Parts: sequence; structure tokens; C-alpha cells
Amino acid sequence: MNFSPAGVLNADLHCHSNVSDGTLSPEDLAARARANGVQLWALTDHDEVGGQHRARAAALSLGLPYLTGTEISVTFAGETVHIVGLGFDPDDAAVVEGLARTRAGRRARAQEMAEGLARVGIHGAYEGALKYVGNPELISRTHFARFLVEVGACRDTQEVFRKYLTEGKPGYVPHRWASLRDAVGWIVNAGGVAVVAHPGRYKFTVNEEYALFSEFREFGGRGVEVVTGSHTQQDYVKYAALAEEFGLYASRGSDFHSPDESHTDLGALPYLSGTLRPVWEALADRIQWPS
Ligand code: AMP
Ligand code: MN
Ligand code: MN
Ligand code: MN
Repeated sequence: MNFSPAGVLNADLHCHSNVSDGTLSPEDLAARARANGVQLWALTDHDEVGGQHRARAAALSLGLPYLTGTEISVTFAGETVHIVGLGFDPDDAAVVEGLARTRAGRRARAQEMAEGLARVGIHGAYEGALKYVGNPELISRTHFARFLVEVGACRDTQEVFRKYLTEGKPGYVPHRWASLRDAVGWIVNAGGVAVVAHPGRYKFTVNEEYALFSEFREFGGRGVEVVTGSHTQQDYVKYAALAEEFGLYASRGSDFHSPDESHTDLGALPYLSGTLRPVWEALADRIQWPS
């Protein structure tokens, strides 16, 4: 099998299962991707590879080509940045250990978040969030958001983030994640390609963003998400130009989390512009094909 022309491919290389903060199992996501016409798929759970073998098996059994994936939480210039890793060996020891260390602080952080929420009258948030957690090592703000919607504190998860879970708000706890150098290094040394996730979401100045991409490339990073669920048309144009400027491959992924919460479904995105080099060109020998 082969993909051509290169850009016109319904690749979805960014989404989450209940092994992190999505609501569907890896198997149900594979089926949904297949039903939506996805032609190349990667599951990219936050700081986790625990769903990789299941996702790959499910995809291949449905005739869907697969790339391993993860989305690593990184702290850069005091902000959280997400780095998607694609096509690496999910059993690589440094990847497995590095991600375990990245996950390690989540429980204590969640307890502090619950204390912050209790101070504004929302009690029992830690236990409440845990009810939504599929993986005890991966309690995230998304699980708190679901609990706050459940108890009627907000109408939807977007509102919860705005009022409670972002910087300066009662449930926000600053956290130190992996370094950019480590995250990119884990992926690259395990045979994969590192990609800056949804750059349009970061609150960086022009200089900080330039520093992010310069250092990312210096550490061996090779891709950037151009078409992704949270990007506007303007972001597509801006990050297509940035991909050219920095000589990066372009990626495409919905960032789908849940049928009830996500505005962009699996595979439901515009194609990459034909002038970009798609990231799957750099991953040709890492794609796992159905037999
Ligand atoms: P955490 O890794 O615990 O900080 O949680 C980050 C996750 O929260 C992201 O991966 C998104 O799934 C979700 N998230 C972050 N900001 C928002 C937002 N404004 N609205 C909805 N979900 C968000
Ligand atoms: Mn998420
Ligand atoms: Mn992200
Ligand atoms: Mn994501």
C-alpha cells in the first residue's frame, strides 16, 4: 500500500483514550477512526504508552495503518507545552521510564487542586475526579472538569477550565513537567519523530515562540502540528509558514477526547496543504501495516 498524493491523506495523529483523559477505550477509538474514514492513525495518550499495544492490535484488525504515539507534557519558559511523539518503539526503556517520571507528580498535584477547589466551596473534588479516571497514574484536569460539570458548578468543561482550572483560578496548581530536551530525546532515541502539538494554543511572545522552535529543532525535533482541532484558519496559515521557515514536517490530528466534549471528531479535519511535507513521509518505515 502507498499514500499518494502525499498531502491528501486522512491521517489522524493525535487523540486520547481512557488510558489518559479521553472517554473511549483504545478499541472503540480504532473503530471510530475506521468508521470516520481515517487512513493512518495514532493514539497519543498524555504521558502514557499503556494503550499502545491495544490500539495497534485494534487498528490492524480493522485494516487501519498505525503509528505509535504519545503526547508528552513539557515545561518550557514557565509554560506547559505538549510534544507529540510518533513512530517510536513503545517498549523502549528510556521512553517507559521517562513517561513514568513525568506522570509521577500528578496525584499530589490533584490533591492540591482539590484543596484549592474546597477553599471556594467545591468539596470532594479529588474523589469526584477519580470516578472519571481510567488510569490511576493519570489523573488530569480533564477529570476534574467532568466532576465539576456533574455537580452543576459549570455547564461544560470549557467553562470549568475558564473559571477554575487555568492560571490564577482556584483549582490551578503550577506543575513542573519534563524538559523539552528530555521529551524530544526520548522520542528520537526510540526511533520516532517529535512534533510540537497545537502551537496556536500557547501564550508565548514572538521571541519565546521562536526560542521554542529553535531549541526543539536543536534537540532533534522535526515536526509541527499545522492542522489540529484547536487551530483556526489563521493558525493553519501561520504554522504552515513556520513549518517552512524551520524546515519541519507538518502533522495533522484532531486531538479528539470524547464524543460529548470534542468539537472535532476523529478524521474530521481539512487536508494538509500540498506545499507542506507531511510528517508521515518521515515515518514511512515506522508505519505498521495491516497484513
Ligand atoms: P493536565 O495534563 O492535567 O494539565 O490537563 C490538560 C488537559 O486538559 C488537556 O490535554 C486538555 O484535554 C484539557 N484542557 C486544557 N485546557 C482546556 C480548555 N480550555 N478546555 C477544555 N479542555 C482543556
Ligand atoms: Mn487532554
Ligand atoms: Mn495537548
Ligand atoms: Mn492532546
